Amino acid sequence: MKNIIIGNWKMNKTNSETIAFIKEVDKKCKKIDVVAGIAVPALNLETAVKHTKNLLVVAQNCHFEEKGAFTGEISAEMLKEIGVHHVIIGHSERRQMFNETDETVNKKLKKLLSLSMTPILCCGEELSVFEKKQTKKFVNDQLTKALKDITEEQVQKIIIAYEPIWAIGTGKSATNEIAETTIKNIRDHLASLYNQEVADQIAIQYGGSVKPENVKGILEQPNINGALVGGASLEPQMFLGLVK
Ligand code: PGA
Repeated sequence: MKNIIIGNWKMNKTNSETIAFIKEVDKKCKKIDVVAGIAVPALNLETAVKHTKNLLVVAQNCHFEEKGAFTGEISAEMLKEIGVHHVIIGHSERRQMFNETDETVNKKLKKLLSLSMTPILCCGEELSVFEKKQTKKFVNDQLTKALKDITEEQVQKIIIAYEPIWAIGTGKSATNEIAETTIKNIRDHLASLYNQEVADQIAIQYGGSVKPENVKGILEQPNINGALVGGASLEPQMFLGLVK
């Protein structure tokens, strides 16, 4: 399968800055070997969809209900209507700062899958869990809860992003070995929840201080199928350095 590299812009760039980035980057992503995308702030999604030909446009979150009294929220249906089909779900910043739980993550996955959209499901442990060598148990538990009642057919449409919290925005990426080991564990866990054939179909990204300098080593790992990149995805030349 092709590697998938998504830039997670978080709360960065206005509409005009989004257009400027796309003008500089999109046409240079025509003949690349990877699927490249940008997860832009919700307000810029429609603009991004209109201006991109080659980049995938990704949302950073959605609500699990179709509509109703949820001030400030955006539904998956709204995203789909403007041509956004990929949504990051359960990013650690949303879990830590905006009360995202394994249960809401599960509901959001079900909603997106029911609309034939693609969730990018984030998982990953804090430093204290990593230091106690409990990463495997913690991440497996997160995934078991996130994937509750998701069928074998549905799970193959999900992209998983393993992002150790201690590596996000810290400049300290996990080593290739740590990233590969944990992602191999994730694949084994998916095989135990479903079966090996299904587990082998699922794209699993690594995220956490990925930069043009370390992306190649990460993508060379046998179980890693892409990267979710924060800080290094904001600047056009750096972004191109990641995907080229
Ligand atoms: P970072 O962020 O690349 O800036 O560490 C990754 C992420 O949060 O997805």
